[in-house]
Amino acid sequence: MGQTLFEKILNKHIVTNIEDDLSQLYIDRMYCHEVTSPQAFDGLRKRGLNVFRPDKIVCIPDHNIPTQGQNLFVKDTISKKQIDILDKNVNEFGIKHYYPMCHDFNGITHVVGPELGFSLPGMTIVCGDSHTSTHGALGAMAFGIGTSDVEMVLATQCMFFSHPKTMRIVVNGRLNPGVTSKDVALYIISKVTTGWATGYFVEYAGETIKNLSMESRLTLCNLSIEMGAIGGIIAPDEITFEYIKNCQFAPKGKDLEKYLNIWTKLKTDDGAYFDKEIVFDASKIEPMVTYGTNPGMGIGINDAIPTIENVKKASQISFFKALKYMNFKPGERILGKPVDYIFLGSCTNGRIEDFRTFSNFVKGKKKSKNVVAWLVPGSWKVEKQIREEGLNKILNDSGFEVRQPGCSACLAMNEDKIPNGKYVVSTSNRNFEGRQGEGARTILSGVLVAAAASVTGEITDPRTI
Ligand code: SF4
Repeated sequence: MGQTLFEKILNKHIVTNIEDDLSQLYIDRMYCHEVTSPQAFDGLRKRGLNVFRPDKIVCIPDHNIPTQGQNLFVKDTISKKQIDILDKNVNEFGIKHYYPMCHDFNGITHVVGPELGFSLPGMTIVCGDSHTSTHGALGAMAFGIGTSDVEMVLATQCMFFSHPKTMRIVVNGRLNPGVTSKDVALYIISKVTTGWATGYFVEYAGETIKNLSMESRLTLCNLSIEMGAIGGIIAPDEITFEYIKNCQFAPKGKDLEKYLNIWTKLKTDDGAYFDKEIVFDASKIEPMVTYGTNPGMGIGINDAIPTIENVKKASQISFFKALKYMNFKPGERILGKPVDYIFLGSCTNGRIEDFRTFSNFVKGKKKSKNVVAWLVPGSWKVEKQIREEGLNKILNDSGFEVRQPGCSACLAMNEDKIPNGKYVVSTSNRNFEGRQGEGARTILSGVLVAAAASVTGEITDPRTI
């Protein structure tokens, strides 16, 4: 029987089989940010251990950094402490790739890693952060790990790995105009629910996926974790290779040719077995919005919130709790609801393609006076591209301002908190209660829906403007 892409990468990286479906796995790349790494470095210190391969580790502060006045000072004392501790750890342990706040290569870990070429096809990639699934878009086996695993990888460049089941999600057909890969992800999660892929590693395939740009694939894989998957992967192809050629730290010249020979073979064999397979039709997907407090509570922008008869009995309590938090009613439409804030950014939608899409949409229009818009690039590289391409001029003319890079309001660990009770249309990945600020009401969407709401001040189908 043939092998899946995931199995091919897994088998290449097993150091020892410990027991059935449990292995010692070699890790090619680990990313550390300031929130989940301090205990791991402390653990090394207590055991008197060094970092085994400091050149394989990339450290980037991103969760806590301010998005205004970044070069001045960090007001929040807890944020400052976490950023300072990462600084101390990387210096003490000799980490080679460290990009502190304001460095040209700083930004959100899951934006910086792919754009600089630290994440490549066929790699095993980990980080103490669930959205590590993002890097799977390059054809890598990428997944989030816990703090004790971070410590193990720092010390040995290996970790224990329980083999997951495999799943293939096929999306066929062409996307309708105005529909983005974020809408595809929110659509899939709304159909399968947030726990459906728990214990599985997902491969995305089909015509729709093949036609996605690299950045759109990163958005899709980013959201794999929101349906419970350990990770999501897409077979590398010409689109991947073109993207990698422009990445600063990716192999170049003869080295690149050697790698391309290997990478072109990274695909699932015909007849390979998946434990689960599901097929979707792209033509059914509309621009999506969420109405509740998990990413699975999503609907097409013109649809109504479900009524109680359409909600499974086991989910009815959480359904009512979510609607109470959001102050929405069963059966009502979201279209036309007023919006207070817009957040464009995060490791889901903070890339240059997202800023191009947003800028193209708002060009010649004006930001609604009722809306506060936070446009936060995913990295300094994206921020530079925004300026070089003249997007900041378009945005400024329309009444928008671009902030400095960071995770920002995606989880509101810095000062970018949505006020209590306010509605935010957010291009990030989680709409949990309080995620974007205490009492904040998050409506997840793709970039076009956020752009449309930013000019009308209400939830608007971008195809109607
Ligand atoms: S942008 Fe949001 S989801 Fe992504 S790493 Fe930062 S906090 Fe996590």
